[in-house]
Amino acid sequence: MPQTRHPCVSLLLICSFLSICLIPSVFSEKDEDPTIKTMHQFSGYQTSEPESCFSDSLSSLSVDAESLQKQIDELATFSDSPPPSVTRVLYTDKDVAARRYIKNLMGLSGLSVREDAVGNIFGQWEGHEPELGAVATGSHIDAIPYSGKYDGVVGVLGAIEAINVLKRAGFKPKRSLEVIMFTSEEPTRFGISCLGSRLMAGSESLEKALKNIFDSQNVSFLDAARSAGYALDQDDFSSVFLKSGAYSGFVELHIEQGPLLEAEGIPIGVVTAIAAPASIKVDFEGEGGHAGAVLMPNRNDAGLAAAELALAVEKHVLASGSIDTVGTVGILDLHPRAVNSIPSKAHLEIGTSCLPSFPTPFLFLAILVSPEWWSKQEKGKETAFSWRFFWGIIGAMEDASRELNLKYKLMVSRAYHDSLFMARVSPMGMIFIPCYKGYSHKPEEHATKEDMANGVKVLALALAKLSLS
Ligand SMILES: [Zn+2]
Repeated sequence: MPQTRHPCVSLLLICSFLSICLIPSVFSEKDEDPTIKTMHQFSGYQTSEPESCFSDSLSSLSVDAESLQKQIDELATFSDSPPPSVTRVLYTDKDVAARRYIKNLMGLSGLSVREDAVGNIFGQWEGHEPELGAVATGSHIDAIPYSGKYDGVVGVLGAIEAINVLKRAGFKPKRSLEVIMFTSEEPTRFGISCLGSRLMAGSESLEKALKNIFDSQNVSFLDAARSAGYALDQDDFSSVFLKSGAYSGFVELHIEQGPLLEAEGIPIGVVTAIAAPASIKVDFEGEGGHAGAVLMPNRNDAGLAAAELALAVEKHVLASGSIDTVGTVGILDLHPRAVNSIPSKAHLEIGTSCLPSFPTPFLFLAILVSPEWWSKQEKGKETAFSWRFFWGIIGAMEDASRELNLKYKLMVSRAYHDSLFMARVSPMGMIFIPCYKGYSHKPEEHATKEDMANGVKVLALALAKLSLS
């Protein structure tokens, strides 16, 4: 490592740990003999309370897979790019139309619909003990440019269908059930992922930041929200924060966005851990100059410093020894970006994802501590890490899969979802279904009707169990 460059390169480091895994990872696959039970055999289920019973056995859980597929296809038409791709960006006309579509479906399912100041949409089926924390499910419908029609959408339309399934089966919830459509899971417009759920989870730093952020067209978040009919008479988004105890449980249904379930022929994934995403932005300042005239020993090339850090990321990720730890330098900008000029500045952004077996702090520590030439480090906010154990939710999903005679696999999510932030305020779980070749965020993204129907059934039964608990 050339020493001449490093002492002269000053560095500004902004580190934003978004969050960390919530549940310990378990990689075992369970395939005990499934036991079919009647609805009356739910644990804690009072058969003497007919108002809280299903009218029939598990066979009454029928998913209308045709309607679900039709809705997915219809929702995909609200897009700013031609089919089969989908582009639906926060607060655009297409996003607003899609929101209207969701609210309409919620209404048709008999849910009472409300929205918060940033446009998180809630459809509630009131339970007979509404004072108890509700059980929620949901996902997102925004889509990054030229992506597919299943990411997130399966967890919103599938959740509404799960409610329909329970209603058709004669179920009466004890705890209220809620379907949530989260605002802006994708960071496309304002660079903030899981905006709605992060705010619901009470992120004060985000609440402040929203007053002063702009998209690439210089439209403020506030103006964009207002153009979509939100935040009309307020610029304070703290009203979005959930009250403590609002939810006793949250379950998100989602396509796997990975290839494992399809490859192994397993219809259901019960998620036990979400890999912790984190990102670091690093700026290097060196000394510019004529690329032909300045001799090599006299240079302080910011671009080369950035390149060395990029290689260090790979080295330390591999050295972690964990297959679930990944690191990427996805952005590397040089200034002034001319072939005959020594870069005086370099900006790079490192994205990492880890599981508890090798948590993010260790990885960053390894990356950050090793280069002795770093002169200055400033860590940003959001460095709090939460660890929560949600075996009750996982148990409900496992029981539901077993009782429905569906093989399932305990697995981890390498992508993060709104669930990651819901976990800050509620016990949380996720149900994965297979998707074609693991494709996601591109038009080829696909889940079969059968797989979606299985996912909806497991979701419905898990919601029923949690509602009665
Ligand atoms: Zn998603």
